[in-house]
Parts: sequence; structure tokens; C-alpha cells
Amino acid sequence: MVTNGHDLIAIQPNYESEAVCVTCGKPAITADHLIFQGIHTLAKYICRHCNRPFYHTVPVGHDLLFPSSFDEYGGQLNADQEARSWLVDPLLASLFKGEKIEVTIEKEIIEARSDVIILNCLDYRFGHAFTKLWNATILKRRYPDHGIIIFVPQGLRWCVPEGVAEIWSFHGKVSEFRRCMVNLDLDVKQLITRFSKVWLSKAYTHLAIEKVDLEKLLKTKRFDLSQFGASAPTVTFVLREDRFWQSSALEFFLLKVFIKLGLPKAIFVRRQNYLVNKAARMIRKRTGGVSLAAAGMGKHGRLASFIADRRKARPTSKDEYDWCTLYSRSHVVIGIHGSNMLIPTALAAGFIEILPRYKVRHISEDISLAYSARYALFLGRHVDQFASAYLVSIHAASMIRDFPYVYKNAEQVV
Ligand SMILES: [Zn+2]
Repeated sequence: MVTNGHDLIAIQPNYESEAVCVTCGKPAITADHLIFQGIHTLAKYICRHCNRPFYHTVPVGHDLLFPSSFDEYGGQLNADQEARSWLVDPLLASLFKGEKIEVTIEKEIIEARSDVIILNCLDYRFGHAFTKLWNATILKRRYPDHGIIIFVPQGLRWCVPEGVAEIWSFHGKVSEFRRCMVNLDLDVKQLITRFSKVWLSKAYTHLAIEKVDLEKLLKTKRFDLSQFGASAPTVTFVLREDRFWQSSALEFFLLKVFIKLGLPKAIFVRRQNYLVNKAARMIRKRTGGVSLAAAGMGKHGRLASFIADRRKARPTSKDEYDWCTLYSRSHVVIGIHGSNMLIPTALAAGFIEILPRYKVRHISEDISLAYSARYALFLGRHVDQFASAYLVSIHAASMIRDFPYVYKNAEQVV
């Protein structure tokens, strides 16, 4: 494979890579051609030993850690079992089971360059697309002479940093982006012919947060810790109506039954609202006054009158941006793993995340808090799946009350 600094893959004038034939196991050297499926880029090979065609994923995004290869019918699969259900199976279905989609692509050409890097941030999960976009700030710093072309779901267009050469915004439901985008392949091939050199970014999915300038993506300054004690305490709940705060194993069991039977989940939203209201009351009492808000997707049920309810059923980019301002003023954001905590934790002073036990192995994946050492421990807290309102409230109140002391100690010159 031809690389530039190990994090770029050449695709123009040529893509060169080795792969092992899935049928006879012998190495095949040169790819016949590339296919731009959407999330994935595939290289098609013809084995020079057994003459059978096969596909191999180009190491971009999650395909870098979980490569897969298969024959022309999707058989002879060689892939990591861990990645089957969420990565490889949707890819195979998109190619061999007719799961296709035609997408509207809005193309903005900002700057003409001859040597470009394509950063493909497409994904059917918001968090994955957002973390791929983190690569943009690093690429700009590392390759100032290259133009960067970003592929991004339209809902994330507002997060694209300044200074890129082109932005391709993909319209439509993000959940549909697991499908094969039938019109993309031709569009990308036409794009490539405009340039003398084209590279693909490896679009790393779990970059070290300290290396990424998220303020450039979110157009918002994060909470200034030196002002923690100076500004009115603010706590923001980050909610969704498909990931719930539940306080007992019985409720969790009932939720699983409801999901299995396809029943409406309004009762769980009400229960979540009840816990939020209860925790909010306790935090108010313990801190002697705090400004409270709720953000995130959803609008059902009532929250207590002292909680500014800023939830939206269908948030626009403007709503997302307004939430960013709210997060950046929040001393604590409280959410559930899966309730889109990446942006709130990038901007607020600290967080409390309710972590389901079945998500323990994914701890930290949805957190963007960029502190190290003691600040990270003090301001980043995970509590159990069945955490009570009381437990959440004592963590929140302590963070608000006690952090100024931690800060004072930590900032002393020694
Ligand atoms: Zn072969």
C-alpha cells in the first residue's frame, strides 16, 4: 500500500495494495478497481492464481481495525466476529441483499487544489461520523499543502472546520447510510479525475481527545475552569427517548419486553422524567440554588417548572449550536451512555454518565472530556445503570461545591 506519513492511502494515480485471495489463500497484489459504497471503500481484486474475483475493504474508518474480505457473492467471508453485526453484515447486505439508497449530495467547492485528501466521515451512527470528523483538524495541521475534501452527513455540516477545500454534504436519514449509496461511486470517480493526486484519510475512529481541537468543530469555547466558581452553577440533563435512565432491574426487564413486543415506550419516558425531576430537586437543595436545563432529542412528558426544557423532537443545526452554548456554560452535564454525550462532554466543565452494565466495555467511547489526571477523575464520573436520583444528586452537588477547592490546590505553583 502506498502511504504518506502512514495515515494517507494513495488512490490517484493508483491504488496499490496486497490482499490474500479468499478462495485459494494466495496473495493477490494489485487491485482491479475501487468501489465507493458509502461508509466503506472496497478494492476489487482478480486472483492471479485461481482467477476468482474477490473484495477487500480499504483500511478507512472502522475497516482499519476490522478489515473484511469476501468473494463476488459475499461468501468465503474473512472478518472479525466482533464486527459482524454492526459493520460487516450491513456492508454485505448493502452489496448482496439489495439494501441500496440514492443520496442527494450537496457539493461546496471552496478552494481549488491539485493534491487532495478525502476524509470520509459517513456513518449510520452519529457518534461514529462525528469522531471521524475529528481527523479534519489534524489533517489540516499535518498536511497544510493539501486540500481536504470532507464527506459528511448533512446534519454534521455545521461542525466542518474552516479551511477545507470541499464539503460534500449527504442529505437523508443517517440511519439509512448503512445502505449502498448507488450514485456515490460514479461521483467520486469523476471527482478523482479532477486532481493529479488523491489520497484517502484513514479516518481514525478513536483519536486521543487531547490531540483534537473540538472548539474548531463546534465553534464554541469550552467551559473555562478558572471561572468555575465565578459563574452561576448550571446543570444540564442530556436526554433521549430511546436510551433511558432507569432505577431498577425490574424496569430494565420491562423495557426489554416492550422492545421485543414493539410496544410504545412512553411509560419509560415518564419514568425518566420523574427521575430527572427528583434529582434536579435534590441538586437544588444541596447546592442552595442552581440553574437547571434539559437538552437532547425528544419532547414527551413534562419536566418540573424549574428545569428549562430545551429538548427538541427534530433538532436543526441551529438547535444543535444553541445546545453547544448551553453545554459550554454548564458546570455539570448529566446523561445516559448513548444519549449523545460526545458534544456535551466536549464543552461542559464536567459530566455524570449513567452507564448500563452491558455497556461497561464501551466506557469512555462517548466521552470527549479533555482533562488529564485529577481533573479528569474529579470532573468525569460514571455511575451505575440503576443509579438513584439521590446518588446522581450527591455527585452533582459535590462537583459544584468542591471543585473550586480542587482547582485552587491544583493550580498552586510548587
Ligand atoms: Zn485465488
